[in-house]
Amino acid sequence: MTERAYFDWNATAPLREPARAAMMLSMAATGNASSVHAEGRAARQAIEAARENVAKLTGDEAKNVTFTSSATEANMLALTPAIETAAEKRKRDKLLVSAIEHPSVLCGGRFAPEAVEKLPVTNAGLLDLHALRSALARTERPLVSVMLANNETGIIQPISDIAHIVHAANGVLHVDAVQAPGRINCRMSELGADLMSLSAHKLGGPQGAGALIRRGDIHIAEPLIKGGGQERALRAGTENVAAIAGFGAAAAVANQTDAARMTALRDRLESGLKAVTPQAIIFGQGCARLPNTTLFAVPGMKAETAIIAFDLNGVAVSSGSACSSGKVQASHVLAAMGVEPALARGAVRISLGWSTTQADVERLLDTWKNVISSLLKTHATAA
Ligand code: PLP
Repeated sequence: MTERAYFDWNATAPLREPARAAMMLSMAATGNASSVHAEGRAARQAIEAARENVAKLTGDEAKNVTFTSSATEANMLALTPAIETAAEKRKRDKLLVSAIEHPSVLCGGRFAPEAVEKLPVTNAGLLDLHALRSALARTERPLVSVMLANNETGIIQPISDIAHIVHAANGVLHVDAVQAPGRINCRMSELGADLMSLSAHKLGGPQGAGALIRRGDIHIAEPLIKGGGQERALRAGTENVAAIAGFGAAAAVANQTDAARMTALRDRLESGLKAVTPQAIIFGQGCARLPNTTLFAVPGMKAETAIIAFDLNGVAVSSGSACSSGKVQASHVLAAMGVEPALARGAVRISLGWSTTQADVERLLDTWKNVISSLLKTHATAA
């Protein structure tokens, strides 16, 4: 079988070599990080080294990093009324989230459903700042959650402007930065974030590990999982040392990705798509976007058929969001941007990463040239 070309990095990235090596070492060792003997101390050391690396990636202090089983869990841990700041010990009374968040944020975490308000985005996919200001004006102690970059469109939110507005209204800002590392800046203090979620498997670590990073003066008074007191009593349960070690090793090299090279490949990809199908719509083109993400649709083309045609030709792409099930549903992100449902259902996402080559991109474009007429014909016949 010829090698496949993988273009679904926003769903999951390949394991980085240093992550694999760190995990192999940890898996070969025995030791509970809470034990005081040498074996336990070695496990503890692997976790603390990983914590340092994740902290460096976000520019924060290691003691403010809590390891979790995923970014989904980090989001659940962060989105609680029990967020205290040094100045404000009372519970947060409302959660404001943008309408384009990942489902793990949209579900509202540990807030009662009636305390969660979804904020609109503009047609360009950016948080509507007027709506944010007016929602903040109706709330005393809000927690706001806005993602740094969208997993479907790649559109980047103006987080520092948002942070400024939220803080002026006595709010706390959580940022889901899962799609950012290795692609754009995710340093917490520069962005003005108070809490930030990361996922290991999007940056070259293993699936099943994540982290919540918080500013030093933010306190989470209600852990999600209570028990043995691990992770400074914020996340009980014996630590998954191998996964954490892999996360740390991947975090240490995440910023070695060449974003300029990725942008050039992505631009070649988009111009190639447009050359074959000038009617293609590339969502978010012209906006600040991740350098690795293209979400596009061609009127009359179905996402499922396009994905299958690519797959049969050895090219892995996805529909808008691959996070939930194998089924293609109209994307809530495109719906929030006012994209017509029929067009939104046809959206295909192509996402690149550090090992994507020019040859991979050319192969995708050759496949596109070969399959497009049948994709459009299939749909015309079915209709
Ligand atoms: N947030 C965003 C923006 C994502 O893209 C994803 C996964 O695709 C998640 C959160 C959830 O991450 P995890 O798979 O670690 O639960």
